[in-house]
Amino acid sequence: MEMSGVSAASGVPVIKLVEDPVEAVAAEPPWATKREKPRRCRQALLVIGLVTLPLVLFLVLGQESAATVWLQIATAKLTATNGRGFEDANHGHDDGAATGATAAANADELLGGLLAPGMDRGSCLSRYDSWRYYKHFPYAPSPHLLRRLRDYEARHRRCAPGTPLYAKAVEQLRSGRSADDTVECNYVVWLPFDGLGNRMLSMVSGFLYALLTDRVFLAALPPDSDDLFCEPFPGTTWRLPADDFPVAKLFGVGQHPDRSYSSLLDKKKIAVPEDDPAASNATAPVPPAYVYLSLGWLLTDRIFFCGEHQLAIKKVNWLLQYSDLYFAPSLYAVAEFQDELRRLFPAKESVSHLLTRYLLHPTNSVWGIVTTYYRSNLAPADRRIGVQIRMYGHSSIPADDMYNQILACSRQERILPAETDSGDGNNNGTTTTAILIASLYADYYKRLRSRYAARGAAVGVFQPTHEERQATESLVHNRKALAEIYLLSFSEELLTSGLSTFGYVASSLAGVRPAILLTAFDHKVPATPCRRAVSMEPCNLTPPRDVECRGEAVDKDDLARHVRVCEDWKDGVKFFD
Ligand code: GDP
Repeated sequence: MEMSGVSAASGVPVIKLVEDPVEAVAAEPPWATKREKPRRCRQALLVIGLVTLPLVLFLVLGQESAATVWLQIATAKLTATNGRGFEDANHGHDDGAATGATAAANADELLGGLLAPGMDRGSCLSRYDSWRYYKHFPYAPSPHLLRRLRDYEARHRRCAPGTPLYAKAVEQLRSGRSADDTVECNYVVWLPFDGLGNRMLSMVSGFLYALLTDRVFLAALPPDSDDLFCEPFPGTTWRLPADDFPVAKLFGVGQHPDRSYSSLLDKKKIAVPEDDPAASNATAPVPPAYVYLSLGWLLTDRIFFCGEHQLAIKKVNWLLQYSDLYFAPSLYAVAEFQDELRRLFPAKESVSHLLTRYLLHPTNSVWGIVTTYYRSNLAPADRRIGVQIRMYGHSSIPADDMYNQILACSRQERILPAETDSGDGNNNGTTTTAILIASLYADYYKRLRSRYAARGAAVGVFQPTHEERQATESLVHNRKALAEIYLLSFSEELLTSGLSTFGYVASSLAGVRPAILLTAFDHKVPATPCRRAVSMEPCNLTPPRDVECRGEAVDKDDLARHVRVCEDWKDGVKFFD
């Protein structure tokens, strides 16, 4: 992402975040519309003005005092999740996977019931195999989450493409209006937007929303993502049959679609019950059959996160979700969802960790890449450290400075081993370490490899690929990217890049609180090289602002206890405990 501007025509200060300029030119997805700004641009409103959404209120008021609390919690909890010594490290599994004592004790192949039994193993090996590779199992799913997931799966089977209820729902969609009465099958259709990390986070968020609202989650997968993820739900499909779907524009709708929720509200095609008393009687507008939810970085439909609008949205049978964000923390600011989220996830830090492990399983073609690479390069070591370096044009600094920042972060958080046997690093003696570098470029891999050349077999440095540019439109490229996210997630310890959803997903999957490199805004090397994350949760980079909600009041104390400013982005929020 790149920071490339601080003002807008409206006079509202804006930060634009733009990723690698090279990629910005080269990697425009084929479905992007001309109307949309280059997708590398992301903006977050800085002026809060009349903000009244409780989430943001707490974000601002609680920021200072939060810092101390974070430090305390971080110190206490890191011991629990990341502080495992080398003795935990894997010493080999039959098939070369790294299970380790902790894994064996705390996990089973269905991840404590998180995954439903009864799926065909051969069709999705990763589903049954991944537990052998993860090093951390910090959170068991709550009984309530397990119940809700099993109920969800049963509903999905009843309503999925190919069923009579799906056919009926599509007929209703063709009619142009939502059903008058309550129907069993209502849907959230996930649409692709932005890079793989963004997509995985928006999938998890959309699935959570479907879970909270008793909807069915379907994915409209473009060719570049066709063979990345297995079917997640037993005995059914999550794939939207896009060819037969009676909505013409599924891909590249952009962030201002005509039928976004807010624009339909402006056009009075939909009504909020409390705004329009007529909405509850026969003269009220009949809710349209579908609306786009424009929940990308511009957050066009930010009112989505208000309870009163949820009442209106509830009446729409089909929701088409266009988002590149992890918006789960913003759902916690909606009173109607807060209680249920508390029951589903007693530990807020576990939301993305559990849902990503539940929902997203690499297909066999990706899993083959992952396991082959792991066994050859990473499994033999006692300990694995993942280092993810994402570079953005807006925050570019000379490579020497960046390298020094990585080393300074490592010293601060005691991550990488010492350069020499006699050094003061945290990994002396007889343990062997594999350092996995994930980056589009080879530079830092080469530097670290020569740094550790003198350590011989004690420290290995590996980089599976260096693709040089983002190519989201390519399935082959995305397979490699997904494989690297999973390889990172099999690390005992992670050092990731700020603002990167790629790194966020790897950390959540790993169950690790990473050390997050701070971004060099304005091309200035940050004084603090990195911060240890207070939770493994992804940052919600664009939470709703400038919204006045009128719905039921949320429990603000609880909100303040569990949603805080991100370590790497002061305008973002994340879950923590
Ligand atoms: P973000 O831009 O860092 O938030 O992450 P995204 O995953 O949404 O988009 C970046 C995309 O660039 C990835 O999906 C990949 O296509 C590519 N990419 C970035 N870093 C890496 C990397 O370390 N390895 C590989 N293979 N691809 C990468």
